[in-house]
Amino acid sequence: MKKNILITGASRGIGAATALLAAKEGYAVAVNYHSNETAAKAIVSRIEEAGGAAVAIQADISQPVEVARLFSETDRLLGRLDALVNNAGILEKQMRLVDMDAGRLKRIFGANVIGQFLCAQEAVKRMSTRLGGNGGCIVNVSSLAARTGAPNEYLDYAASKGALDTFTLGLSKEVANEGIRVNAVRPAFIYTDIHAAGGEPNRIERLKDSIPMQRGGSAEEVAEAILWLVSEKSSYVTGTFIELSGGK
Ligand code: NAP
Repeated sequence: MKKNILITGASRGIGAATALLAAKEGYAVAVNYHSNETAAKAIVSRIEEAGGAAVAIQADISQPVEVARLFSETDRLLGRLDALVNNAGILEKQMRLVDMDAGRLKRIFGANVIGQFLCAQEAVKRMSTRLGGNGGCIVNVSSLAARTGAPNEYLDYAASKGALDTFTLGLSKEVANEGIRVNAVRPAFIYTDIHAAGGEPNRIERLKDSIPMQRGGSAEEVAEAILWLVSEKSSYVTGTFIELSGGK
Protein backbone atom coordinates (compact mmCIF):
# COMPACT_ATOMS: atom_id res chain seq x y z
CA MET A 1 0.00 0.00 0.00
CA LYS A 2 1.20 3.50 -0.78
CA LYS A 3 2.66 5.35 2.21
CA ASN A 4 2.05 9.01 3.01
CA ILE A 5 4.72 11.44 4.17
CA LEU A 6 4.45 15.06 5.31
CA ILE A 7 7.59 17.17 4.92
CA THR A 8 7.62 20.64 6.45
CA GLY A 9 9.48 23.39 4.61
CA ALA A 10 9.59 21.40 1.39
CA SER A 11 9.39 24.26 -1.11
CA ARG A 12 13.19 24.42 -1.42
CA GLY A 13 16.52 23.17 -0.09
CA ILE A 14 16.73 19.97 1.97
CA GLY A 15 12.93 19.69 2.27
CA ALA A 16 12.43 19.87 -1.50
CA ALA A 17 15.16 17.28 -2.14
CA THR A 18 13.54 15.01 0.46
CA ALA A 19 10.11 15.43 -1.16
CA LEU A 20 11.49 14.50 -4.60
CA LEU A 21 13.35 11.44 -3.25
CA ALA A 22 10.36 10.31 -1.16
CA ALA A 23 8.12 10.45 -4.23
CA LYS A 24 10.70 8.48 -6.23
CA GLU A 25 10.62 5.84 -3.48
CA GLY A 26 6.83 5.58 -3.74
CA TYR A 27 5.50 7.90 -1.05
CA ALA A 28 2.59 10.26 -1.63
CA VAL A 29 4.01 13.57 -0.39
CA ALA A 30 2.48 16.54 1.45
CA VAL A 31 4.77 19.45 0.52
CA ASN A 32 4.41 22.05 3.27
CA TYR A 33 5.62 25.59 2.62
CA HIS A 34 5.43 28.93 4.38
CA SER A 35 5.49 31.72 1.79
CA ASN A 36 6.74 30.46 -1.57
CA GLU A 37 3.65 28.92 -3.19
CA THR A 38 5.24 28.98 -6.67
CA ALA A 39 8.24 26.95 -5.51
CA ALA A 40 6.07 24.45 -3.61
CA LYS A 41 3.80 23.97 -6.63
CA ALA A 42 6.86 23.47 -8.85
CA ILE A 43 8.00 20.60 -6.59
CA VAL A 44 4.51 19.07 -6.77
CA SER A 45 4.56 19.38 -10.59
CA ARG A 46 7.99 17.70 -10.82
CA ILE A 47 6.67 14.80 -8.70
CA GLU A 48 3.47 14.48 -10.75
CA GLU A 49 5.34 14.66 -14.06
CA ALA A 50 7.47 11.72 -12.87
CA GLY A 51 4.29 9.74 -12.13
CA GLY A 52 4.19 10.37 -8.36
CA ALA A 53 1.58 11.89 -6.06
CA ALA A 54 1.97 15.13 -4.09
CA VAL A 55 0.02 18.08 -2.71
CA ALA A 56 1.23 21.52 -1.60
CA ILE A 57 -0.11 22.81 1.73
CA GLN A 58 0.65 26.28 3.08
CA ALA A 59 1.09 26.62 6.84
CA ASP A 60 3.35 28.46 9.27
CA ILE A 61 4.47 25.63 11.56
CA SER A 62 5.13 28.03 14.45
CA GLN A 63 1.37 28.73 14.69
CA PRO A 64 -0.79 26.08 16.47
CA VAL A 65 -3.94 26.77 14.42
CA GLU A 66 -2.00 26.49 11.16
CA VAL A 67 -0.36 23.23 12.26
CA ALA A 68 -3.79 21.75 13.07
CA ARG A 69 -4.98 22.79 9.59
CA LEU A 70 -1.81 21.39 7.95
CA PHE A 71 -2.48 17.95 9.43
CA SER A 72 -6.24 17.92 8.80
CA GLU A 73 -5.57 18.92 5.16
CA THR A 74 -2.99 16.14 4.89
CA ASP A 75 -5.59 13.68 6.27
CA ARG A 76 -8.16 14.92 3.78
CA LEU A 77 -5.91 15.02 0.70
CA LEU A 78 -3.64 12.00 1.28
CA GLY A 79 -5.17 9.85 4.01
CA ARG A 80 -3.40 8.13 6.91
CA LEU A 81 -0.01 9.63 7.77
CA ASP A 82 2.97 7.24 7.88
CA ALA A 83 5.90 9.63 8.24
CA LEU A 84 6.67 13.19 9.28
CA VAL A 85 9.88 15.04 8.42
CA ASN A 86 10.24 18.05 10.71
CA ASN A 87 12.48 19.89 8.26
CA ALA A 88 11.35 23.54 8.29
CA GLY A 89 13.77 25.82 10.09
CA ILE A 90 15.12 29.34 10.01
CA LEU A 91 18.13 31.37 10.96
CA GLU A 92 18.66 35.12 11.00
CA LYS A 93 21.61 37.48 10.41
CA GLN A 94 24.87 36.46 11.99
CA MET A 95 25.46 38.42 15.22
CA ARG A 96 26.71 38.09 18.77
CA LEU A 97 24.42 37.47 21.73
CA VAL A 98 24.63 41.08 22.93
CA ASP A 99 22.97 42.29 19.73
CA MET A 100 20.03 39.83 19.67
CA ASP A 101 16.59 41.14 20.59
CA ALA A 102 13.73 39.19 22.15
CA GLY A 103 11.64 39.27 18.96
CA ARG A 104 14.34 37.38 17.11
CA LEU A 105 14.59 34.78 19.87
CA LYS A 106 10.82 34.23 19.73
CA ARG A 107 10.91 33.79 15.94
CA ILE A 108 13.83 31.35 16.05
CA PHE A 109 12.45 29.21 18.86
CA GLY A 110 8.93 29.41 17.38
CA ALA A 111 9.98 28.08 13.97
CA ASN A 112 12.77 25.72 15.13
CA VAL A 113 11.39 24.22 18.35
CA ILE A 114 7.72 24.98 19.06
CA GLY A 115 6.74 24.17 15.47
CA GLN A 116 8.48 20.77 15.67
CA PHE A 117 6.75 19.99 18.99
CA LEU A 118 3.35 20.90 17.50
CA CYS A 119 3.89 18.87 14.31
CA ALA A 120 5.20 15.85 16.22
CA GLN A 121 2.20 16.07 18.56
CA GLU A 122 -0.23 15.93 15.62
CA ALA A 123 1.76 13.07 14.06
CA VAL A 124 1.81 11.03 17.30
CA LYS A 125 -1.97 11.49 17.69
CA ARG A 126 -2.38 9.85 14.27
CA MET A 127 0.40 7.21 14.40
CA SER A 128 0.41 5.89 17.97
CA THR A 129 -0.84 2.31 18.28
CA ARG A 130 -1.96 3.29 21.81
CA LEU A 131 -4.34 5.78 20.16
CA GLY A 132 -5.55 3.41 17.44
CA GLY A 133 -2.93 4.28 14.79
CA ASN A 134 -0.68 2.01 12.74
CA GLY A 135 2.68 3.37 13.88
CA GLY A 136 5.02 5.56 11.87
CA CYS A 137 8.28 7.50 11.74
CA ILE A 138 9.36 11.01 12.63
CA VAL A 139 12.64 12.50 11.45
CA ASN A 140 13.77 15.82 12.89
CA VAL A 141 16.20 17.96 10.90
CA SER A 142 18.62 19.30 13.48
CA SER A 143 22.08 20.73 12.77
CA LEU A 144 25.72 20.20 13.61
CA ALA A 145 25.35 23.62 15.27
CA ALA A 146 23.65 21.81 18.17
CA ARG A 147 27.13 20.46 18.99
CA THR A 148 29.26 23.46 18.09
CA GLY A 149 27.04 26.24 19.51
CA ALA A 150 27.74 28.52 16.49
CA PRO A 151 29.58 31.27 18.44
CA ASN A 152 29.65 34.73 16.82
CA GLU A 153 27.10 33.59 14.24
CA TYR A 154 23.83 32.37 15.74
CA LEU A 155 23.78 31.04 19.30
CA ASP A 156 19.99 31.18 19.14
CA TYR A 157 19.77 28.90 16.12
CA ALA A 158 22.31 26.45 17.60
CA ALA A 159 20.47 26.35 20.94
CA SER A 160 17.15 25.75 19.17
CA LYS A 161 18.71 22.72 17.44
CA GLY A 162 20.07 21.54 20.79
CA ALA A 163 16.49 21.62 22.08
CA LEU A 164 15.37 19.64 19.04
CA ASP A 165 18.03 16.99 19.78
CA THR A 166 16.83 16.61 23.36
CA PHE A 167 13.24 16.44 22.10
CA THR A 168 14.28 13.68 19.67
CA LEU A 169 15.82 11.62 22.49
CA GLY A 170 12.89 12.04 24.87
CA LEU A 171 10.10 11.52 22.34
CA SER A 172 11.81 8.46 20.86
CA LYS A 173 11.64 6.77 24.27
CA GLU A 174 8.13 8.04 25.02
CA VAL A 175 6.62 6.45 21.89
CA ALA A 176 9.03 3.54 21.25
CA ASN A 177 6.43 1.05 22.41
CA GLU A 178 3.66 2.68 20.34
CA GLY A 179 5.02 1.80 16.89
CA ILE A 180 6.72 5.14 16.31
CA ARG A 181 10.44 5.65 15.65
CA VAL A 182 11.91 9.11 16.16
CA ASN A 183 15.35 10.03 14.81
CA ALA A 184 17.23 13.07 13.60
CA VAL A 185 19.80 14.18 11.06
CA ARG A 186 22.43 16.80 11.86
CA PRO A 187 23.54 18.37 8.57
CA ALA A 188 26.10 21.15 8.15
CA PHE A 189 27.53 23.12 5.23
CA ILE A 190 24.76 22.12 2.82
CA TYR A 191 24.42 24.23 -0.34
CA THR A 192 20.98 25.83 0.12
CA ASP A 193 19.59 29.36 0.34
CA ILE A 194 19.48 29.32 4.16
CA HIS A 195 22.98 30.83 4.35
CA ALA A 196 21.78 33.99 2.58
CA ALA A 197 19.30 34.48 5.46
CA GLY A 198 22.31 34.54 7.78
CA GLY A 199 23.77 37.35 5.66
CA GLU A 200 26.55 35.22 4.16
CA PRO A 201 25.43 33.36 1.01
CA ASN A 202 28.99 32.07 0.46
CA ARG A 203 29.49 30.87 4.05
CA ILE A 204 30.44 27.36 2.91
CA GLU A 205 33.26 28.70 0.70
CA ARG A 206 34.71 30.56 3.71
CA LEU A 207 34.61 27.45 5.91
CA LYS A 208 35.38 24.77 3.33
CA ASP A 209 39.03 24.32 4.28
CA SER A 210 38.04 23.51 7.88
CA ILE A 211 35.83 20.59 6.76
CA PRO A 212 37.78 17.28 6.74
CA MET A 213 36.22 16.33 3.37
CA GLN A 214 37.06 19.84 2.07
CA ARG A 215 33.66 20.39 0.50
CA GLY A 216 30.08 21.32 1.29
CA GLY A 217 27.24 18.82 0.98
CA SER A 218 24.15 18.65 -1.21
CA ALA A 219 20.52 18.64 -0.16
CA GLU A 220 20.20 15.30 -1.98
CA GLU A 221 22.86 13.74 0.28
CA VAL A 222 20.84 14.78 3.35
CA ALA A 223 17.62 13.50 1.77
CA GLU A 224 19.16 10.01 1.39
CA ALA A 225 19.78 9.79 5.14
CA ILE A 226 16.28 11.08 5.95
CA LEU A 227 14.65 8.53 3.64
CA TRP A 228 16.74 5.72 5.17
CA LEU A 229 15.52 6.75 8.63
CA VAL A 230 11.85 6.69 7.57
CA SER A 231 12.25 3.38 5.72
CA GLU A 232 11.94 -0.18 7.02
CA LYS A 233 15.70 -0.52 6.46
CA SER A 234 16.20 1.30 9.77
CA SER A 235 13.48 -0.65 11.59
CA TYR A 236 15.52 -1.13 14.81
CA VAL A 237 16.83 2.45 14.91
CA THR A 238 15.27 5.06 17.18
CA GLY A 239 16.54 8.01 19.22
CA THR A 240 19.62 8.32 17.08
CA PHE A 241 21.38 10.96 14.98
CA ILE A 242 23.06 10.86 11.60
CA GLU A 243 25.59 13.62 11.03
CA LEU A 244 26.05 14.86 7.47
CA SER A 245 28.91 17.28 7.89
CA GLY A 246 31.85 16.02 5.84
CA GLY A 247 33.58 14.68 8.95
CA LYS A 248 33.52 17.94 10.96
P1 NAP B 1 16.01 26.75 3.28
O1 NAP B 1 16.59 26.51 1.93
O2 NAP B 1 16.08 28.11 3.87
O3 NAP B 1 14.48 26.26 3.25
C1 NAP B 1 13.69 26.46 4.38
C2 NAP B 1 12.31 25.89 4.13
O4 NAP B 1 11.55 26.02 5.33
C3 NAP B 1 11.53 26.64 3.05
O5 NAP B 1 10.78 25.67 2.33
C4 NAP B 1 10.60 27.55 3.85
O6 NAP B 1 9.35 27.80 3.19
C5 NAP B 1 10.33 26.69 5.05
N1 NAP B 1 9.93 27.43 6.25
C6 NAP B 1 10.59 28.40 6.90
N2 NAP B 1 9.89 28.82 7.96
C7 NAP B 1 8.74 28.09 7.97
C8 NAP B 1 7.60 28.08 8.79
N3 NAP B 1 7.49 28.90 9.84
N4 NAP B 1 6.59 27.22 8.49
C9 NAP B 1 6.69 26.38 7.43
N5 NAP B 1 7.76 26.34 6.62
C10 NAP B 1 8.77 27.20 6.88
O7 NAP B 1 16.67 25.78 4.38
P2 NAP B 1 17.53 24.42 4.28
O8 NAP B 1 18.94 24.78 4.26
O9 NAP B 1 16.96 23.52 3.27
O10 NAP B 1 17.24 23.86 5.74
C11 NAP B 1 16.26 22.89 6.03
C12 NAP B 1 16.52 22.41 7.44
O11 NAP B 1 17.87 21.94 7.53
C13 NAP B 1 16.39 23.50 8.50
O12 NAP B 1 15.80 22.97 9.66
C14 NAP B 1 17.82 23.89 8.78
O13 NAP B 1 18.00 24.41 10.07
C15 NAP B 1 18.52 22.56 8.62
N6 NAP B 1 19.95 22.67 8.36
C16 NAP B 1 20.42 23.18 7.19
C17 NAP B 1 21.80 23.27 6.99
C18 NAP B 1 22.41 23.83 5.73
O14 NAP B 1 23.65 23.92 5.67
N7 NAP B 1 21.63 24.20 4.73
C19 NAP B 1 22.67 22.85 8.00
C20 NAP B 1 22.15 22.34 9.17
C21 NAP B 1 20.79 22.24 9.34
P3 NAP B 1 9.09 29.09 2.21
O15 NAP B 1 10.34 29.24 1.36
O16 NAP B 1 7.88 28.69 1.44
O17 NAP B 1 8.86 30.26 3.09
